[in-house]
Amino acid sequence: MEKVIIVRYSEIHLKGKNRGYFERVLIINMEKALKGFKHEIKRQSGRYLVEGFEEEETENLVSRLQKVFGIHSLSIALKVQSQMDAIFNAAKSVCSDSGKFKVSTHRADKSFEFDSMQINAEIGGRLLSQNSNLSVDVHNPQFVINIDVRENGTTLVFNEFFKGAGGMPVGTSGKGLLLISGGIDSPVAGHMIAKRGMHVDCIHFHSYPYTNMQAKDKVCALANVLSKYTCGLRLNIVSVTHIQEEIHKKCNGEYMVTLLRRFMMRIAERVAKKCGAQCLITGESLGQVASQTVEGMTSSNSVIETLPVLRPLCGFDKDEIIERSRAMGAYEISIQPFEDCCTVFLPKHPVIKPTLESVLAEEGKLDVEALIEESLSTLEVMDL
Ligand code: ATP
Ligand code: MG
Repeated sequence: MEKVIIVRYSEIHLKGKNRGYFERVLIINMEKALKGFKHEIKRQSGRYLVEGFEEEETENLVSRLQKVFGIHSLSIALKVQSQMDAIFNAAKSVCSDSGKFKVSTHRADKSFEFDSMQINAEIGGRLLSQNSNLSVDVHNPQFVINIDVRENGTTLVFNEFFKGAGGMPVGTSGKGLLLISGGIDSPVAGHMIAKRGMHVDCIHFHSYPYTNMQAKDKVCALANVLSKYTCGLRLNIVSVTHIQEEIHKKCNGEYMVTLLRRFMMRIAERVAKKCGAQCLITGESLGQVASQTVEGMTSSNSVIETLPVLRPLCGFDKDEIIERSRAMGAYEISIQPFEDCCTVFLPKHPVIKPTLESVLAEEGKLDVEALIEESLSTLEVMDL
């Protein structure tokens, strides 16, 4: 009797002719997620079986696989020879000590000597006769013993389904560059876009020494959480210290955030093009803070030359974003109290609905190109 993990995939089913491609990407991503664990992944009629791992690692493997997009659900199963006594022993192992249950058999191997109804009756009957605390209830069972008689002479027996991350395999929808801050929103935005199959790299802007090193560590930790869903990612880190000093010195302070955003977008677009990213992604949510008005977005969008900017959180409430942040495992890191560069030189009254005209007038006081070049020269990369 061997422990195996059944992996069922989701939307890939819908992809018709591309199905082979989606499956190949999914298997590569599963391999990356399980790197460092002894295992073998086998394809078996529209799903995968993970086998050959150390039994005590089972839960670790399942939890890694639960972060791989494209997986619909998983089960830990016992694999036995397709033979009634062996199937019964496995059923006994996964059966609870008491309660109402039913046996549900799927028989892919039509040559197996019993049909699924007969297997249900035989296994159910044997379990009942051995334990008087069990009873059968086919309509409202407390647990179900699933028996899957495969074509290759083996049978899988299991009683639990674990939810997968859903979505599409990362890498099947191109690549984007996420502007990641230390806040709650941007990691969630990256997670949502990765779920649609897009590979996500990150860029972070810091204003060291105005912000401390811990703020940078916090962003690395967040990017690391995200990287578990993207099967690895590159974090680009750029200093905007000098840009902020220049804005502070030369421009109307109310425009600090608006102007800084435009620099961030320009720098992000250049880095994106260099690393082959096809869009920018931000964690903006409409109306959440002063800079996230449609006017603010117009101002930051207008410096982008070609790439689209995806803002997956635009229609979400903070509560919905927090729920997603918790679910992806980022929340506890995001709420650590370190400053983001946007809070440095923060004006008492940031401009809320900047007109493009006034923004351009303020920006005209700066040597934009030189500041961008200088900022880009501070670029550090980390592969997570
Ligand atoms: P978050 O929770 O992601 O920090 P927020 O609600 O605090 O978002 P803002 O600070 O207005 O919103 O930032 C809006 C978006 O701009 C962020 O979601 C992120 O995509 C980007 N951004 C802000 N600060 C930075 C930064 N220091 N580095 C990279 N991107 C940033
Ligand atoms: Mg923020």
